[in-house]
Amino acid sequence: MKIGFIGLGNMGAPMAANLAKDHDVTGFDTMAKPDGISMAVSAAEAATNADVVITMLPNGDILRAVSAEIHAAMKPGAIHLDCSTVDVESARAVATQAEMQGLHAIDAPVSGGIGGATNGTLTFMAGGPETAFATTKPLFDIMGQKAVHCGPAGNGQAAKICNNMILGVTMIGTCEAFVLADKLGLDRQAMFDVVSTSSGYSWTMNAYCPAPGVGPQSPADNDYQPGFAAELMLKDLNLSQMAAQAVDADTPMGQAAAALYRQFVEVEGGAGKDFSAMLPRFETRRRP
Ligand code: NAD
Repeated sequence: MKIGFIGLGNMGAPMAANLAKDHDVTGFDTMAKPDGISMAVSAAEAATNADVVITMLPNGDILRAVSAEIHAAMKPGAIHLDCSTVDVESARAVATQAEMQGLHAIDAPVSGGIGGATNGTLTFMAGGPETAFATTKPLFDIMGQKAVHCGPAGNGQAAKICNNMILGVTMIGTCEAFVLADKLGLDRQAMFDVVSTSSGYSWTMNAYCPAPGVGPQSPADNDYQPGFAAELMLKDLNLSQMAAQAVDADTPMGQAAAALYRQFVEVEGGAGKDFSAMLPRFETRRRP
């Protein structure tokens, strides 16, 4: 397959490198110039004659601007596969624009981070036409270990922000419970051993424990180097709250999680730390 790949940052560069082992990949990025990928001089050039154009960009505004440029250059029937995490509204607007120009669009944000992108073990959650999903399935199989078709355009982004809203809320709950346990004199290993095998278990406790020295290796054991940075969690929580507002969904825990991560990232110096660094943050605080 001939593939255009726009946005070769932390995630896009390793994803494109994995695809280039089996496919003809032409990349474009306004800043990054990764080794091993043949580069075009513009997004439009990377998109010309491609069967599939993949975008992996920072946000919905940039996605909309790049989409206008590449859709004008893509050949009829080609597929725009967007793997960025963006707002549902932008994903649906881009899909409508693509259809109007005789193209197909799939929104397929990912879970799995830079490690998953490098190792080809990402999970994709996809929205868009069934037939276009089937055509892109071999590419998902190279870049990831699982791709779930979630329904029409925008549903991939919907799945992503719902998942990450649960993740943010659960991480905060796990961190505050550790701090309460500390203050009640409960040993952290005992806390882990009980909760990880009781009804309070979760991915944040069992697989990504925010307390160093207990549970499997996690960013907590590496001075909270990300991992999944707190500012990326804030981005996803903000997207969940934008969507909740747009459809009038009551999400009080998501709203509280967004406010806490905003405070942590923008006021308390949490930017650049893993999102599990909420635990040392709670350790330094008193009950309001
Ligand atoms: P990044 O900032 O490292 O990469 C984005 C790239 O897009 C940059 O290289 C930038 O130069 C390029 N870019 C910006 N504007 C452009 C334009 N107009 N034309 C071409 N290139 C342009 O970000 P990332 O960590 O690779 O994340 C990409 C997307 O994946 C984001 O939407 C993010 O939310 C999502 N995501 C990231 C992670 C993660 O752990 N990093 C995990 C899951 C999802």
